[in-house]
Amino acid sequence: MPDLPMVEAGLERYRAWVDVDTGAIEANARAIKRAIGPSTQLMAVVKADGYGHGAVPVARAALAGGATCFGVATLGEGIQLRQAGIDAPILVLGGLSQPEELRSCLRWQLMPTISGMREALLCQNLASGSGTVMAVQLKLDTGMARLGAAWQEGPRLVAAIHELDAVQLAGVYSHLANADAPPDPRRPRQVDPCTREQQQRFEAVLTHLRQQNLQAGVRHLANSAGTLRCSSLHYDMVRVGLALYGHSPARHLAGVLELQPAMHLHARVTLTRTVPAGVGVSYGHRFHTTRPSRLAVVAIGYADGVPRQLSNQLEVLYRGQRLPQVGAITMDQLVLDATDCPALDVGAVVTLLGRDGDQEIHPTDWSDRCGTIPWEILCGFKLRLPRLAAHPEEGSRPEAPG
Ligand SMILES: *Cc1c(COP(=O)(O)O)cnc(C)c1O
Repeated sequence: MPDLPMVEAGLERYRAWVDVDTGAIEANARAIKRAIGPSTQLMAVVKADGYGHGAVPVARAALAGGATCFGVATLGEGIQLRQAGIDAPILVLGGLSQPEELRSCLRWQLMPTISGMREALLCQNLASGSGTVMAVQLKLDTGMARLGAAWQEGPRLVAAIHELDAVQLAGVYSHLANADAPPDPRRPRQVDPCTREQQQRFEAVLTHLRQQNLQAGVRHLANSAGTLRCSSLHYDMVRVGLALYGHSPARHLAGVLELQPAMHLHARVTLTRTVPAGVGVSYGHRFHTTRPSRLAVVAIGYADGVPRQLSNQLEVLYRGQRLPQVGAITMDQLVLDATDCPALDVGAVVTLLGRDGDQEIHPTDWSDRCGTIPWEILCGFKLRLPRLAAHPEEGSRPEAPG
């Protein structure tokens, strides 16, 4: 996280913020590592600033929990980890098409994902020109139709890359399109047909490589859903994002591992007021009080990453109680109906995501209501929200500022 000039030291927890429980990240990594066993590596996927949690603290916690390498989406994300002193292998999962980008990979010891000979030859030229060897990973498209070479080309490409003396093939991988699909109730143990087909194609390539005695490096296929779904998808490594942050990629996979959500979103009440019945609240008066009401203004809005589509559907937690948000969510503020919660007063800290008492709100609760997925909720929080290390001894509900 870059420092936030708009927040003076000591004021980080006054308005709205994210507490990041790195202990939860470490525990999740450990639980995943235990589930995949000693012969499978854990790649912690920390793209998009560690799914909004802060890439560097997440990466350190994941290493402590047993991850051995990292996946990022962009060059900048990889460089950020290197500048923080992290020296574990880093794979850039996104496509890098320009020679300057690949040169930067070489400079920062980042492994690019290549989808064909064009990129392989660029790497060969760059590395041989500077007298070094560049590690790359070959991506194969087995049924996602995004990045990667056609899987049928796999054996030929691996053979051709092995001919390049300045390129080292560190891995061969593919990506699942559908691993979070609910299981067929008649065949609950089988993976869905799409995943099965992708796996068969991946297997066909690996078999070919074995027969021709071609080294593939690290072979990997599974994201969080694939990792939780079936051990036959694990191969030499799994690439885990969402589960590392404590969330299940699908309801039917929720019980597979005990995961702890690492993100707790808090904001402060800045004003309370009592109003009569029939008062319209916020822009467009999309809510009218139906009784004399006590409203509470909370200092967080859609410019912080709370989706405006959740207007009139959001709930927040305070002292184990659920309070409804009412009216349109605005750029910087939202309003609660606190009529049934007399204890809520100016200065109170409410929880928008996370646990309070025996109540808990998950990103999935939001995403189900506004037609998206928990991934988008997590990486939708803006820079304006400070990401702070949660102090376990304080709990996740600091009442007094500072
Ligand atoms: C983002 C990403 C992952 C991680 O996905 P999750 O579902 O969050 O575990 C794995 N592999 C690739 C190629 C990715 O882009």
